[in-house]
Amino acid sequence: MDETQQDFKARCYCGDVRWRVARQAEVVFSGYCHCDDCRRSHATSLYQYVYVDAKDFHVERGQEQIRAFTTVKDGSFKRHFCQRCGTRVYNTLQVPHNGHQMELRGIFPSLMESIQDAKDPRWTPRKHTCAKESILDLNTIHDGLPRELT
Ligand SMILES: [Zn+2]
Ligand SMILES: [Zn+2]
Repeated sequence: MDETQQDFKARCYCGDVRWRVARQAEVVFSGYCHCDDCRRSHATSLYQYVYVDAKDFHVERGQEQIRAFTTVKDGSFKRHFCQRCGTRVYNTLQVPHNGHQMELRGIFPSLMESIQDAKDPRWTPRKHTCAKESILDLNTIHDGLPRELT
């Protein structure tokens, strides 16, 4: 079997944009974000993010439909979306790592084709970020994950 056939596959709401992540991809960081920017951009009360090395991520279809938006002046972080259906399809992020810039992709398990893939244990959120900005009552969430209040 072709190696890429086993990759995690995902798509936007309309299906024009499709991407895949290598089966062996390692998660750099993951969690739920409650910040004002993420809530507005995703129109949700919290969202689940997973960051992987850009080399493990590939847009398979619909590159021409992808647009990006950011409020980060140096462009080191961008939110990419399908211009046809509006789905947030992935983020790009550059972080300093061992003296050079590491290129990451933020992916969303909610876009994966299969529920099994979306629930793969490697995507398990490790923390709540920007918990202070949450619009949810975090006392009702008993997942044992650390909450970053900054
Ligand atoms: Zn779309
Ligand atoms: Zn956020």
